[in-house]
Amino acid sequence: MENQKELRTWLDKFNLDHPLVIAGPCSAETEDQLVTIAKQLKDSDVSVLRAGLWKPRTRPGNFEGVGALGLKWMQTAKEETGLLTTTEVANANHVDLALENDVDILWIGARTTVSPFIVQEIAEALKGTDKTVLIKNPVNPDLSLWLGAVERFYTAGVKNLGVIHRGFSNYEKTKYRNNPEWQIPIDLQNKFPDLPLILDPSHIAGRRDIIFDLCQTALDLNYDGLMVETHHDPDNAWSDAAQQITPATLIQVMKDLKIRKEISESEEFVSSLKNLRAKIDITDHQLLEILSKRMKIADEIGKIKKSQNVAILQTSRWNEILGKMILEGEQQGLSEEFVLKMFKAIHQESINHQKKVISE
Ligand code: PEP
Ligand code: MN
Repeated sequence: MENQKELRTWLDKFNLDHPLVIAGPCSAETEDQLVTIAKQLKDSDVSVLRAGLWKPRTRPGNFEGVGALGLKWMQTAKEETGLLTTTEVANANHVDLALENDVDILWIGARTTVSPFIVQEIAEALKGTDKTVLIKNPVNPDLSLWLGAVERFYTAGVKNLGVIHRGFSNYEKTKYRNNPEWQIPIDLQNKFPDLPLILDPSHIAGRRDIIFDLCQTALDLNYDGLMVETHHDPDNAWSDAAQQITPATLIQVMKDLKIRKEISESEEFVSSLKNLRAKIDITDHQLLEILSKRMKIADEIGKIKKSQNVAILQTSRWNEILGKMILEGEQQGLSEEFVLKMFKAIHQESINHQKKVISE
């Protein structure tokens, strides 16, 4: 993707002084439902109405969307409110129908981004379009797969592009429905700073009470927009009921969010930042030194294990370390999630060191 600046021209055209907000129900249910929600979103920061028509459900037997029928409802909602519209397309047929019915923005779902064949099929159906296409991250934490999908659209001549961060599947139950893994969208942002990045807090959260915090984190990380599932009667939504918020709640969320500047010219700020960053650099250097010291001890352990023909991995010892460190970490203000991840990485490096010593 050579001409990066052109990737965000569609976003600049909105000419907003706040992040782009896309909102609307997980699924279009009835014309009345969609128009009601659209009207409640009309006089707010929301520019685009979302609604799923073809729903990729994890298990069969759930509501699978109203399909093409809902395209007319989206047109009515647009006429009545002036909001632009967006829906998910998951094959070439969906693309044709959405284009015929004047949907403004198309998004690619997380279960579609994982499949290069289907992404290619959709990209070809959209060849040269001037519509905007937003690509959700794949369900698995794989940046290349996400970028690969973006490149397939770009190569097909789709130049109005953006990405949506909706989190990544995990087997272990955490507080999130889908783990945010912020590092992945941050890496993507570093590679393609002009590719608009939008947060979908709804599918990360899976619940209402952490939507605000997720949105604030995204704004702190310079995201360009938010896509929030919004329903006039969330508890009775036909899909994703637990994570939808009312239009009124969304309007309040937008009021409460702090939109921070990317940089400040204030001299005092610049010099304090420089100072603190120097401290960080020193600490990082110390971290590496201490880790290297730890690995040298692991090498020593490797040597004595080798001499006694003892296995590298001792699960009970490892669980003991982990339990202790999580408790200690908590006292020092470090989250369990972080301590766990860090020690898993340290442990793996220790094992690699010991393996090397033992095989020498
Ligand atoms: C959705 O946006 O309703 C949806 C199905 O999203 P995802 O592809 O992120 O699961
Ligand atoms: Mn949904």
